Amino acid sequence: MKIKNLLAIAVAFTFLASCANRSKEEKYNHDYLMYATIWYQNSPEMKALYYQGFNIAGERLKQFSKMKTAKPKAVVVDIDETMLNNSPFQAQEIIDNKGYSKEFWNEWCKLAKAEATPGAVEFSKLCDSLGITLFYISNRSVTQFDATLRNLDSLGFAYAKPEYLILKDAESSKKARRAKVTENYEIVLLIGDNLDDFSEIFENRASQWGTKTVDEFKKEFGNRYIILPNPMYGSWEKNIYTKQDTLPAQRDSARRSVLKGFSL
Ligand SMILES: [Mg+2]
Repeated sequence: MKIKNLLAIAVAFTFLASCANRSKEEKYNHDYLMYATIWYQNSPEMKALYYQGFNIAGERLKQFSKMKTAKPKAVVVDIDETMLNNSPFQAQEIIDNKGYSKEFWNEWCKLAKAEATPGAVEFSKLCDSLGITLFYISNRSVTQFDATLRNLDSLGFAYAKPEYLILKDAESSKKARRAKVTENYEIVLLIGDNLDDFSEIFENRASQWGTKTVDEFKKEFGNRYIILPNPMYGSWEKNIYTKQDTLPAQRDSARRSVLKGFSL
């Protein structure tokens, strides 16, 4: 082979290798997630919002406890970013410059090292003192059952027992799992960081990101529904991207396209 041809092959290889490296670097660009995670992990405002949410939940619960109901009362809470803080998982993805994977999420859950969100343990104990049963309905997989229970128990959560922990088996919607609870209990209060934690009505976000539905149910917030802050991820993200938005540049442009600015 002529030297000229060899040189051409070498140049082509170098080019392909640099493209591969660049796409690898770009693939896991988490810059957009960094600010949200910094806020969640460090701002006193995050802490204050959780205290606010659980304080309101506690006040509502004391009122609901006096109500007469046909069945015993229950509270339903979500786990991730509601009772447990998984922000180290988000932070580590950014630090390691890697994308979400079920395997890495599983490794984090198995450690059972998530800390409690501010006010969560105290709230679970308040439920116990009022004689109101607390159910943890989470979209963690059933394969993470033991580790999740161990994590909750190690933090001193009330109701950290198998019969009160309902994880995801087949479907993500929590509708059927809530319905199972209502067979024997009256759910008086729900707490979550995602609207889908409250009712299946919020799962449809096709029209205006689902904001109209929130308007319709505005009286429920701070009443039966207590929403906690999670700017890092959630069902709200689905409305940003289309299926075609797979490349970093496309996803960045999709994020920019939903910003609402103004013109002079
Ligand atoms: Mg959650």
